[in-house]
Amino acid sequence: MTFILASNNKKKLIEMQRILSPLGIDVVTAKMIGKTLTDVVEDGETFEENAQKKARHACAEMGMPAIADDSGLCVDYLDGAPGIYSARFSGGHGDDEANNDLLLKKLDGVPIEERTAYYVCAICCVFPDGREITVRGECHGHIGFERDGNAGFGYDPLFLVDGKAFGRYSAEEKDKISHRGNALRKLTVELEKII
Ligand code: IMP
Repeated sequence: MTFILASNNKKKLIEMQRILSPLGIDVVTAKMIGKTLTDVVEDGETFEENAQKKARHACAEMGMPAIADDSGLCVDYLDGAPGIYSARFSGGHGDDEANNDLLLKKLDGVPIEERTAYYVCAICCVFPDGREITVRGECHGHIGFERDGNAGFGYDPLFLVDGKAFGRYSAEEKDKISHRGNALRKLTVELEKII
């Protein structure tokens, strides 16, 4: 079975291919099969709603099983912000440096015990016959006082698990405990029941 990924993000593609290929599932982007997928407005109020919107849109437009994810960082001291707005926290879409600067500024003077945060990843699969699966993975940690490490992306240099920044985790170490790894593991359990 082949899934169309509702994103052209290479890192997401590789991660999904790696985890789903043992189930006999191939993941491709629209570009890889010579097609174009129109954009969808991500105006859901939750990670799940946004993932569902993207997957339903891709399935309808391409006429094949589709998979989409939506992820972000929720900081308890900021009442869950930046949450679904994680990519554009500081204004411009995907400006990791500016997002991390703003996060540090908003937590200035806040002690470590109040800097708890968690990553969320919602993944949705939609089939042309209308079946849907939605799963959610989380990963809990703290926001550090300064950037540490160059691995990963986004908020990883500031996100601490067991006192170590995700910026210092190898991809394999991160996969084992990350929100995306946890969501993909739940997804494989659900997919194995229906394929
Ligand atoms: P999206 O899921 O592509 O909409 O991206 C959400 C945003 O959340 C990213 O741009 C990052 O800022 C942040 N984010 C999601 N997952 C991670 C992660 O594993 N590490 C670091 N930042 C992440």
